[in-house]
Amino acid sequence: MKIRDIQTAVIEANYDWTIVKVLTDEDIVGYGECFVAPGLTRTIGELKPILIGQDGRNIDKLCRLLREAGITAGPVGGTIFHAIAGIETALWDAYSKWLGVPLFRLFGGAFRTQIRIYADCHAGEGLSSLSAICTPRIPWWMSETGETVRFDEIHMRAHGGLSEEAKELPNPSAYAKRAKQVKEMGYTALKFDVDIPNPYMRDEFNRCLDNREIDLIASLVEAVRNAVGKDTDIAIDCHWRFSSESAIRLAEAIAPYRLLWLEDPVPPDSVEALERVTDYSPVPIATGENHYTRQHFHDLIVHGGVHIVSPDFQKTGLLEGKRIADLAETFTVPVAPHNISSPIGTMASAHLCATIPNFLVLEHHGIDVPFWEELAIGWDGQIIRNGYIELSDEKPGIGIELNEEIAYQYRRKDEPFFDRV
Ligand code: MG
Repeated sequence: MKIRDIQTAVIEANYDWTIVKVLTDEDIVGYGECFVAPGLTRTIGELKPILIGQDGRNIDKLCRLLREAGITAGPVGGTIFHAIAGIETALWDAYSKWLGVPLFRLFGGAFRTQIRIYADCHAGEGLSSLSAICTPRIPWWMSETGETVRFDEIHMRAHGGLSEEAKELPNPSAYAKRAKQVKEMGYTALKFDVDIPNPYMRDEFNRCLDNREIDLIASLVEAVRNAVGKDTDIAIDCHWRFSSESAIRLAEAIAPYRLLWLEDPVPPDSVEALERVTDYSPVPIATGENHYTRQHFHDLIVHGGVHIVSPDFQKTGLLEGKRIADLAETFTVPVAPHNISSPIGTMASAHLCATIPNFLVLEHHGIDVPFWEELAIGWDGQIIRNGYIELSDEKPGIGIELNEEIAYQYRRKDEPFFDRV
């Protein structure tokens, strides 16, 4: 199964879903997905000559060659790793199709075929879309002009201080309404953002939470808990915004609501800051979506004391993801993978989750993207039903193909779309 070509396409959704397509000399095609990064498809193009003509079944070796080639650009993470993760998944998809087996068979088989999914509910609002550098935008297919509308958040901050939305108080009843709606879709676990602009912020940069902000966040969590009852799990995401002391004070305030986890309380580059939080937090702490290798996760677990790890397999790749999960299992640490992907990355992640004994729950970040389900073909009915993805032995590879016609309708216009001109 020799690699004949590597092509890319980018779908402009709530994120840039970057799809890698591997073509082989046996006419088997594999799809994979990368976590968004600036310059990603160009990076994949630079790596491509290393792969052409190689036996696409030697996946671990090929990924090592790619990482070594990119070692000066990204020795421990970043765009190079995102690019390799998408290529790797496409190779696993092609190889398991070549063997005629579902992908989970290649990683040790299934501990379960019903994969539990949690819904990311943002800050209670509907669809919001972010560019490759995490600035808000309106996708071209939603904008009045038919062109992507970009907001220069940095410019706004420099010239206007806090944005208009920061002057409004986040509304617990909006969080509660959203929680009820998503629970009714069948999900048994929900996640909300709580690092939200609000009028009580005294300083945008010092990471310190005012007591009124802590009370406000606690009121949002209380509203969600009251809306969904005891039988639904709730997680909250802080996006690395807070200092250790503020994170501990926040955790103490929300402890009565029995959260599944509090995610990314402190900046990702300080294991010591994480350790301060995990030492004193009465709420389980999850982190890991900005880490790439088993060495990083060893530090997070052994030195950072993290309670739940949340690797993103579109960053780590699937094989390193499995190694991270195995490492976590030796410490009885559960794995709750981060995931903001289209159906391609989500299905690949679901297959890996089937093989991880210490799997907890997998993220779905696309509940507001109207065409998320339509992007897949070869699947009967909805991919996510009642908060689960059900895998079977009937479908080889990741179990779906990309619907390229739908993907083309929502493509990023300034990016290549596979081999179409
Ligand atoms: Mg997160």
